[in-house]
Order: sequence, then C-alpha cells, then structure tokens
Amino acid sequence: MKITFLGTGTSQGIPIIGSDHPVCLSKNPKDKRLRVSVLVEWDNYTFVIDCGPDFRYQMLRAGCKRIDGIIFTHEHSDHVLGLDDIRPFYFRQGDISIYAHKRVLKTLKRRFDYIFQIENKYPGAPTVVVNRVKNKPFKIKNMQVVPISGLHDKLQVFGYRFNDFAYLTDMKTLKNKEISKLYGVKVLVVNALRIQPHRSHFNLDEALQFIKQVNPKKAYLTHISHLLGFHEEVEKKLPKNVYLAYDELEITI
Ligand SMILES: [Zn+2]
Ligand SMILES: [Zn+2]
Repeated sequence: MKITFLGTGTSQGIPIIGSDHPVCLSKNPKDKRLRVSVLVEWDNYTFVIDCGPDFRYQMLRAGCKRIDGIIFTHEHSDHVLGLDDIRPFYFRQGDISIYAHKRVLKTLKRRFDYIFQIENKYPGAPTVVVNRVKNKPFKIKNMQVVPISGLHDKLQVFGYRFNDFAYLTDMKTLKNKEISKLYGVKVLVVNALRIQPHRSHFNLDEALQFIKQVNPKKAYLTHISHLLGFHEEVEKKLPKNVYLAYDELEITI
C-alpha cells in the first residue's frame, strides 16, 4: 500500500494569502502546505481521501491519471471544494464513486447540485456514484475499510483505517470505543493544528497524547497551521516514532 500526502495544511493552507508570518515566508518547501488530502493506492486501485480546493493542482502534481473514488471525512470546504475538478476523470472513466456519511452527502448535493441533477443535466457536469458510509466496516474493492468516528467541535467526522494504515483529520474528541478500532495499526496519520489549544482540532500535545494511546509503529502529523512553527524546528522536538507530514511525502506500508 502506498500513501502520498497531497496536502498537509489547515483550511487556509500555508502560506496564507497576504501573511507575513515567518512560517508563511519560509523558503523551505516543507513549509508550503496545500489543503489536506492523501492518495491511497493498493494493488491497481487509487483512492483519494477528501478533495479540497487544491485538488486539481494536487492531481497534476502527483501525476494522477485515474482515480477509483473519493472518500470524504466531512463536509468542510477545505475537504470538499475540489469536487468539480473530477471532470477530467469523469470524461475519461465515467461516473466517479464517492463515499461519505449521509450528512456529508446532503451537503454535497446542496453545494454541487448540478453534479447530482438527474433531469436536464448540463453535459459538461460530472456524475458520481454515491456510497453512504455508516459507522461500520465496509468494502472498497478488495479492501475492508473501518470508519472511526470522532468529533470536530460538535461536528461528526470520519477517519478511516485500511489494514495497517489509518488516516484521521479534523479530530478533537474520540470515544475510547472508537480509538480501540485503531489498535494494532502500523502507520497512523492524525491532525495537529498548532501549539495552542483549539476548540475543534487537536493541538500538538493532544495529538501526541492520542498517538501514545493508539501506539502505532509510526505516526505522521497533518492539517498543520503556520502557528505550529517551522517544519524543521518542530520535527526535532517530536518523539522518535512521530514525524511531521509534508506535501508530496510518500510512504509505503
Ligand atoms: Zn479541515
Ligand atoms: Zn473541518
């Protein structure tokens, strides 16, 4: 299984438009972060988790020529706004499968009504095949996927486990029952926004505490804001098995 980090930044990305914060001005490519998304590849399959406003560029940058579907964590703009840009895939491959909680599907239907329209559909609009995700394991191709439900302030969000790999973003609180679904995972990706606490995201301490509880072999932090600090400086302070993810990082599990 191969994971490619397409984006590792929080909702505004790094740099933030117009910001002269030192991290936003950093010349280190690892301090430049598009909105969060990962490419998950196994056998001959390619899935994307979330497709935010940087989706088009992320697909070009990763050289991604086909996708088998998109799995959504939740409906916030930084995770869904690129949905229109599935068009090149749709033109080449036909209908694109999407997987999401019913509440997320409802939001997508409202925000991208033309994609879901059945009658008098504009010919250039893409079509999706809707797969509703409930909080129980489901199959994607030959892979069993286990949703992990958590709260992002008061909003329900799904993380996903694929065998030895799990990807969680925009989490703030999780019940122990949900955390226990992650036990035994080799590689865990989890969000860490900044140093200071935040009402809807893990800060660095909370993410590290969470990683300790899950106890994976390796963990990567994502959904990072400029307020976490410079990539190089933050990474030096992390525990041995914890790394900061960065855009275009590839890992094989
Ligand atoms: Zn987000
Ligand atoms: Zn969010």
